Amino acid sequence: MVENLAEIAKERGIQYFLISYVDLFGVLRAKLVPAAAITKMQRDGAGFAGFATHLDQTPAHPDTLAVPDPASLIQLPWKPEVGWLASDLYCDGELVEDAPRNVLKRLIAKARAQGLQMKTGVECEFFLLNQEGTAIGDGLDTYPKPCYDQLALMRQFDLIKALCDGMLTLGWGPYQNDHEDANGQFEMNWEYDDVLVTADRHVFFKYMTKTLAEQAGMRATFMPKPFNGLTGSGCHMHVSVWDGARNLFEDADGELGMSALSYKFLGGVMHSAADLCALFNPSVNSFKRINAPVTASGATWSPNTITYTGNNRTHMVRIPEAGRFEFRLMDGATNPYLAPAAILVAGLDGIANDRDPGERLDINMYTDGHTLKNVRKLPLNLLDALRLMERSEVVREGFGSAFVDSYIKLKMAEWNAFMSHASAWERLHTMDC
Ligand code: GLU
Ligand code: MG
Ligand code: MG
Repeated sequence: MVENLAEIAKERGIQYFLISYVDLFGVLRAKLVPAAAITKMQRDGAGFAGFATHLDQTPAHPDTLAVPDPASLIQLPWKPEVGWLASDLYCDGELVEDAPRNVLKRLIAKARAQGLQMKTGVECEFFLLNQEGTAIGDGLDTYPKPCYDQLALMRQFDLIKALCDGMLTLGWGPYQNDHEDANGQFEMNWEYDDVLVTADRHVFFKYMTKTLAEQAGMRATFMPKPFNGLTGSGCHMHVSVWDGARNLFEDADGELGMSALSYKFLGGVMHSAADLCALFNPSVNSFKRINAPVTASGATWSPNTITYTGNNRTHMVRIPEAGRFEFRLMDGATNPYLAPAAILVAGLDGIANDRDPGERLDINMYTDGHTLKNVRKLPLNLLDALRLMERSEVVREGFGSAFVDSYIKLKMAEWNAFMSHASAWERLHTMDC
């Protein structure tokens, strides 16, 4: 039975609901609805002009209706009179093909039909900037090797505590917070869970971080590479696949404690990583993080090849311990629904087609990667990534052509907009030719 949001509002003192969805570019959209009007909204959905957001629609399209999912309800820890809801999108009585949460739910259902439940944990890295977003917020945070810097971490204690307290209140099981390897950069971790639960929390975490940072007089950004020469913001995803209480990726007798099924899943991800890069790394800026030159701290910590390893952070995939993979390719701009959807597309293809991930590499890719012959590289820019995605049969089959065509259309428009702007770098390097 569907939970009744009007009753929940009464029980929990919720006066307003944010009926929200995430568009194709990962931007969070919402309407604020008084609890008195929620019954109709729960039944019929809240109306949006899809074209006004990043969805593949025209201004002539009928309303896109966001039907809130009561299971996603999160009461804002800093404003408990407001309840946040993720939604499923409908237009003309049909599910919207390119709505990211719908896409993920389709793939979850496909996995379930095979008796598989994916669980994920995300590591959201972000920068705290000044309010204008032009410089690192903490002027004292300048140490050239800044990872785990206790002083810089504790200067942000009030904000970090507010965020962590919020996650504690919500029961997410937060367990550690750190200063990352760039000045002004932080990461906060909470427990892994079912893929849809984590995806909704991922969306909400970004919203909560941006909001509370604003209240603290700063601006939080998950942009992949805000500063040249500093490490970028990744969004590592830890992945395991379960059947009820059994982790199907774990096998004490397997290589590094990982099962045969997990290596097929990995084989699928290795096979399609380049083709899915436009989803893991969806912005023009994303490609300044991967393939980046070494940073001031000594390492970028981001992958530049399609390789996997044991507990070694210089590859695209790390196996930190038995039972799970850490996929390190995704960045802070990745769509919280489309990134796990892409992993499911690739992993299910790997299982269906017995894909072999090849040999594990235990070398330092940053210093010794150049000694390898035939190592597969990641695309160098968004255009190359989109072209690979467009041609991939696995991606078309897994996502459906309607989604792929919509995504490529909107992202190509973004690429073309980028190409119509000459940058300061170009002026400097071309002026005197
Ligand atoms: N910031 C790094 C990246 O861009 C990751 C650092 C880490 O290993 O946590 O992926
Ligand atoms: Mg990190
Ligand atoms: Mg990590």
